[in-house]
Amino acid sequence: MSGTRRRRPRITVLAAVIATLGAAMAFLIPQTASQAADCDGYVALTYDDGPNPGTTQRLIGALQAAGAQATFFNTGQNAQNHPALVQAQQNAGMQTANHSWSHPHMTQLSAAEMASEISRTQQAIEQAIGTTPTLFRPPYGETNATLRSVQAQYGLTEVIWDVDSRDWAGASTAEIVQAARGLQNGGVILMHDTYQTTIDAVPQIVADLESRGLCTGMISPATGRAVAPDGGGNQTDPPVTEEPTEEPTTGQPPAGACSVSTAVNAWNTGLTADLTITNTGSAPISSWTLAFTLPAGQSITSGWNATYSPDSGRITAANAPYNGGIAPGASVTIGFQAAHSGDQSGPSAFALNGASCTVA
Ligand code: ZN
Repeated sequence: MSGTRRRRPRITVLAAVIATLGAAMAFLIPQTASQAADCDGYVALTYDDGPNPGTTQRLIGALQAAGAQATFFNTGQNAQNHPALVQAQQNAGMQTANHSWSHPHMTQLSAAEMASEISRTQQAIEQAIGTTPTLFRPPYGETNATLRSVQAQYGLTEVIWDVDSRDWAGASTAEIVQAARGLQNGGVILMHDTYQTTIDAVPQIVADLESRGLCTGMISPATGRAVAPDGGGNQTDPPVTEEPTEEPTTGQPPAGACSVSTAVNAWNTGLTADLTITNTGSAPISSWTLAFTLPAGQSITSGWNATYSPDSGRITAANAPYNGGIAPGASVTIGFQAAHSGDQSGPSAFALNGASCTVA
């Protein structure tokens, strides 16, 4: 009796849900179809330097209200500090890309420093959304041959821009809208995830584009140009389908890969760590770097076979030149001693937290 009574409301609720879903689908399908039919070409709206707690969510809201797609070039620092906002970009169907870790003038860095800026950001974004970017925009659009070769080693396509909105220079909303009128099919416009003027420009930019038969899309990792949102190959694809195609799209055999294993001996005032780097790729590697985090209170007092910087916290170890290259399948062992500063207490537990090896 009571069982029968309970079932009835459930059926009513289910029927209501089905009716609502049906209505929603009937509304969505024609809209998608008409949107596709009106597109004579695609442009890419790009927003740099986020995610930012003050603006990213509102920017995403404005883009969604306008039915627009966009590409977010995030810094690694901001992605690490605000992973939920990177997830929000992903959830909204936006493209998430790499804009360096700390926004330096990349061309003033060594190849190893460039690799660190890029790889730390790849890791921060992967930790936030589970996939790694395929696009990289150097800060200030400054690039050179060394940077391009480091980008290639991470499978990244460099994206600069065709149109500069000059929002960073204080352009008004009207001026940003006017700049976007210069976009052509395939083109990319530079904007920033920082300014209210930029957020306010979204509806008018999208309306102007529509009047010219242009739609907003994604940036193709194959060409670095704007394509349809489902144009294939971008990182909004499930990681399962992306992984097997990763190597062929770079057009070359894997430049290098490495793994790391650790052996740590702790004593009452410090520790000794040996780290064995193994070349797991098919070509010799020489410019590898290793990143790991020391426990709080520990700092490196001496090291060998690598250069370590800084000496506490998150540390990057780079190959010492005298090691030369590591042949495929071969290994090199580096190491260091670390000690507590001030106190004499030994490390209670130690692991090379998040140790990862990358080839630059
Ligand atoms: Zn920037």
